Amino acid sequence: MEKYNFKSGCLICGKPIIIQKKESEHTCSICHKTFISSTICSEGHYVCDECHTNTHEFVELLLNSKETDPTVLFSQIENLESVHMHGPEHHSIVPCVLLTVYKNSGGHINLLSAIETALQRGKQVPGGICGFWGTCGAAVGAGIYASIVTNSSPLNSEAWYKPQKLVARVINRISQENALRCCKRTSRHAILESIEWTKEYMGIELKKNEFLCTLYYNNKECLHENCPFYNNK
Ligand SMILES: [Zn+2]
Ligand SMILES: [Zn+2]
Repeated sequence: MEKYNFKSGCLICGKPIIIQKKESEHTCSICHKTFISSTICSEGHYVCDECHTNTHEFVELLLNSKETDPTVLFSQIENLESVHMHGPEHHSIVPCVLLTVYKNSGGHINLLSAIETALQRGKQVPGGICGFWGTCGAAVGAGIYASIVTNSSPLNSEAWYKPQKLVARVINRISQENALRCCKRTSRHAILESIEWTKEYMGIELKKNEFLCTLYYNNKECLHENCPFYNNK
């Protein structure tokens, strides 16, 4: 996995990702398993969601962190070698960052077990879901966080609606932008909305800092001045 590490575009060759009209069978260039997808690179490479997501490095950072500010923690994680510009790893990173700061701010959870649950759920949220399912995976990631801290389940009438309030707010926020995919932008919206939600529903105040993007130069679809997190200093 380590030898394939283009930060944006195709993991194998760095060329742009293209979306084919119809989904079809592709063999992952890394694990050689076969999947149905419409997303390949212009050279024909396909990398499956699991091979795109290297959780080891960011989980280790989180489990050793005392940080109580999710904006600081997310910025640290997005700069790790194993985290790409875009990709389904963000569907796990968002809940895991939030769970860590929740625990570090006095929230009553077993962090290791909560992170294991978040990774298990996050990896089921496919890459490209924002464009194919009408629901951004970073918003679903916020929902995974909220479901874990409220102990929500399909049969828990006390908690059931609360995570959905958060996801609705995140989706509402990101859908106001006339934009396209950017995992850095939507993860930031998801985290900022989660800070408000955590105060309101869990009574815990998470810290928050200036949340400017550190990686826009890697993103050829960046909105630049039209992105609220754009930092051209
Ligand atoms: Zn390629
Ligand atoms: Zn694979």
